[in-house]
Amino acid sequence: MLVLNSGSSSVKYRLLDMADGSRLASGLVERIGEGPVADHAAALRQVAEELDARHLGLDSPRLAAVGHRVVHGGRRFTEPTLITDEVVTGIEELVPLAPLHNPANLAGIRVARALRPDLPQVAVFDTAFHSTIPEHAARYAIDTRVAEAHGVRRYGFHGTSHAYVSRSTAELLGREVAETNTIVLHLGNGASASAVRGGVCVDTSMGLTPLEGLVMGTRSGDVDPAVVFHLARVGGMSNDEIDTLLNKRSGLLGLCGDNDMREIGRRMADGDGAARLAFDVYVHRLRKYVGAYTAVLGRVDAVAFTAGVGENSTAVRQAALDGLRGLGIEIDPVRNAVRGTGARIVSTADSPVVVAVVPTDEELEIARQTHTLIRS
Ligand code: ADP
Repeated sequence: MLVLNSGSSSVKYRLLDMADGSRLASGLVERIGEGPVADHAAALRQVAEELDARHLGLDSPRLAAVGHRVVHGGRRFTEPTLITDEVVTGIEELVPLAPLHNPANLAGIRVARALRPDLPQVAVFDTAFHSTIPEHAARYAIDTRVAEAHGVRRYGFHGTSHAYVSRSTAELLGREVAETNTIVLHLGNGASASAVRGGVCVDTSMGLTPLEGLVMGTRSGDVDPAVVFHLARVGGMSNDEIDTLLNKRSGLLGLCGDNDMREIGRRMADGDGAARLAFDVYVHRLRKYVGAYTAVLGRVDAVAFTAGVGENSTAVRQAALDGLRGLGIEIDPVRNAVRGTGARIVSTADSPVVVAVVPTDEELEIARQTHTLIRS
């Protein structure tokens, strides 16, 4: 199984042996559009060459399918979908909802289909896991006609990660997924929280776009929507300028000039006030979502941290959950400080809610979902 994750300026790939999920090859082609890699077609050719060089070529008869990550599935695509011309058109129709992501995903799909028209190719959508969110959590309280005319609602993103991590967390706890309620905190460059009841997503922090919710590397997360009008009217900024501000120049970067949590940690150790504030804003937002999703779920079995920051930052985990004994959450500072790589528990032995670090694996999840679909 080949998994392709075509982003706006990079293509990540992984070739997996589905007998055991092991990785046969993987890589990253970056800086598409700058220099030697002119476009996605060139990037995919490079992927094909890298695979050829390892005798794992795209033309191999053992290749069973290609799984493509697609960011926005809108309301139409709520499950992994075998790609046909009609599906391509459907993904194209969703470009207005994800103007940066869906065109890049489509470029990858087009090239891969041209290279191997005989192979099943499957689209796995970032939004799909969130399609179960009930209407009262998915709808914004705005005029229904306007919302429906323009598809304005909560879709959510990082779905493959939330799906994978909520399942892995149940496994770590030795419980049935169907009987486990989990708050998943996916903290990478982009960051999102989700409330998962018995394996079914019931709320998530990202919305119409990946801008809403948690503080991220360069995205603001939640702001008063009137900030946008204020910056336009009083600040004289254009829509595009505000879009760039909130998506690319905000979050940790906007607050302190750095978007990497490691660097922020180093600066904090040197007594840097701006880095400290950025960290504090970041963890304050996290706590708010943990509290909110505790209320949404009613009973929480686990809080799971994942992705770059969630898996690695002891300080973020500690600060986000410190003093939440009232919610049944008791993080253990000693366990939490232990460095590790696998899924592990970092709460005290008698904490009613288990706090866990659960490494995510979006490529493996895409491969599994693709595999399940083509076998059925
Ligand atoms: P992406 O969303 O691009 O997949 P990742 O999940 O890889 O991102 O997360 C990247 C972020 O993880 C980095 O920007 C950095 O802030 C953070 N990170 C990675 N390693 C560490 C670490 N050891 N300590 C703290 N933060 C880390």
